[in-house]
Parts: sequence; C-alpha cells; structure tokens
Amino acid sequence: MEQFTGMKNFEHKKNITRIVSLVLCAAISVLFFGCRLNKTDSKTEFVLGTVCSIEIPKTKTSAALLEACFSELRRLEKVFSANDASSELSAVNKTAYKAPVVLSENLAALLTQALDIAHKTDKAFDPAIGAVVKLWNIGFDTARIPAQSEIDNVLPEAIVENIKLENSDAGTTVFFTSEKVKLDLGAVAKGYSADYIAALLKANGVKSAVINLGGNVLTIGKKFFTNDNWKIGLRNPSGSADSVKLILSISGKSVVTSGIYERYFEKNGVRYHHVLDPKTGYPVKNNLMSVSVVCESSTYADALATGFLVMGYEKSIAFLKQSEKMHGEKVDAVFFFDDGSWKSTNDSIILDMAK
Ligand code: AMP
Ligand code: MG
Repeated sequence: MEQFTGMKNFEHKKNITRIVSLVLCAAISVLFFGCRLNKTDSKTEFVLGTVCSIEIPKTKTSAALLEACFSELRRLEKVFSANDASSELSAVNKTAYKAPVVLSENLAALLTQALDIAHKTDKAFDPAIGAVVKLWNIGFDTARIPAQSEIDNVLPEAIVENIKLENSDAGTTVFFTSEKVKLDLGAVAKGYSADYIAALLKANGVKSAVINLGGNVLTIGKKFFTNDNWKIGLRNPSGSADSVKLILSISGKSVVTSGIYERYFEKNGVRYHHVLDPKTGYPVKNNLMSVSVVCESSTYADALATGFLVMGYEKSIAFLKQSEKMHGEKVDAVFFFDDGSWKSTNDSIILDMAK
C-alpha cells in the first residue's frame, strides 16, 4: 500500500454537472443513492461471495488504489471463507479442537470482536454455530432440512463458551474445547472487510467514499464534492430486490441489513432462510422480516443486524438501551415487520419513505 500514502490532493472542481442515479445491486438489500459524477472512480467485482463495489473521488492514483482494495478483499476472502476448503478459517476448523492454532492478524482481530459481540448478545449472534450452518447448507444446491438428531448432536456444544482465544508470544491463538465447534463468520466478515477497506482508503487520504459489500454499506465523510449526507435506500422486505421502502440520510456511518429473504430454500411450501436461531438450530421465526443497523463500525452493525433478527424487536430495543448506557455506543436500527410495518429507533436518520 506504500505507493498510495500521501495521496492527499483531490480535484475538487465545483459547479460541475451532477447526475444523481440510483445504483441497484441485484443481490443486496440496501440500495445506495450516490452522486454519479464523472469525477469519481469506481470498481465492482464478485468477491466475498457477493457483488462488491467501491467508489472514491477520481485522482491519478484512484484506479490503482481501487485495485489494491479489491486485492485486499480477495485476500480477506481467503482468510474468512467457511466455504473454501483452503481458507485460513477452514484450516482452523479442522484442527483447533486438537491443539491451539496461531491466527493471522485479520482473523485474530475479527474473532476477538465476534466473541465479544456473541457474549453481549447472549449468543443470538454466535460464530461457533458453523456446524449447524453446514447441516442446512442454505444457499447451496445441497440445502436440506437436517434430522433433529443431527441438530441435537452438534447444537449444545456449538457455542461461544467453547472457543478460547489467547495471546501468547507466538501471537493470538484459538482453541476449541469441543470438536463440535466450527467457526462461521458469514454474519460479520463483510462488515469487518468494509471497516478494513475504509481504514486503507483513509490512510491513503480518501475523505469521501462508499464501500458496498453486497449490501453492507459503509460511507466515509460526506457525499462526493458536497456537504450533504449520503442517501441509502433500504429494501422493502416484502417487495422485489429493487424496491425501496425507506431512504436513510447518513454520513461517515455504516448501514447493514440482515433479512430473511436474502438466502433461503423452500420445501413443501415452507421457506427455510439462512439466519439460524442458536437456541433451536432452525431458521429464526418471529415477526421480523429484516433489521438494518446504523453505526460507525460496520463489523458491529453486521453482527448486530444478524443478532437482532434472532433476538426479535423487544429484546433488541432493550439491548440498545442497555449498550448505550454501558458502552456509550450510538447505534440505531430500523425493524421491518411481516405485516408490512416498520419501526426505527431514530426517525431523524430517515429522510423519506419511498412510494
Ligand atoms: P447475515 O446475512 O449477516 O445475517 O449472516 C448470515 C450468515 O451468518 C448465515 O449465512 C450463516 O453463515 C451465519 N449465521 C446464521 N445464523 C447465525 C447466528 N445466529 N449467529 C452467527 N452467524 C449466523
Ligand atoms: Mg450480519
């Protein structure tokens, strides 16, 4: 990344023609309304199992910086993927119940945060649930309803308490106290990657950017060449992939949505989606269709969006009140219910209701 440090001067030419366009990403639940200027540079690629795009102001080095960002995303995919047998995570899952495994810096950093959030959410979000996720295999051709005996065999021990992280001279190590623990970071890896890329962009002088990793949106600063907030469209969970229900107005924050419509399969008229309730090992069932979380950290927003979908509305609201009191973290959320209604913890972030 060295070649980019010091890239501080952007061409801020005002009074140029601005075309506002709605950028829709088919696989995502959050839509981004950006300022499509001919003075920005963007790149889109399929990585981390989804469509990812990054947009930054155009400079002499912006194209190379974007290439560097995507090369980092491809590297992070090789660290975090639970579906790639050659990833670092897969190697950890194979042996960490036999002996402690030394983790790379990225895996150690994400796992440290993930374990903390698992404890805070009382395991509504729990990255130890990987073996149960694999039983269902939702999102793959081999998706199926596991036998109750298969769930019972792994679920009681697929819990965060069976993951031991330690710092030693060799670095951070992880050890599983049960063979039934398999890590799955699918609910936080995009959030972490967005935070990581944002740090990389900021270190290279970028003051305004949108990082959209399959609907995990992270904004840096204000909208390109303006003092305006970014407008982020939230998908109508009961509508098609391109229907927008609400438009949020944010700057320098992340918006992450977890929805029961994102990945699922149907059997005998019943829909089985990809967010599992760690208490039952089954796709979570309550009156929520989706939850969007807004806060500075995309890692936190990603984990909480998944956790809130599991916790349901009331518990999530209690969690938010408690966490703001204890940790001073300003986190907002928008909840979409199965009767078509929605509730927000902060109406000032809602700019508009789409028709
Ligand atoms: P997200 O779309 O961010 O809500 O993440 C969903 C993905 O996280 C699933 O596809 C699983 O890989 C994994 N997952 C499912 N249920 C949970 C859970 N309760 N806690 C943590 N990860 C989960
Ligand atoms: Mg998530």
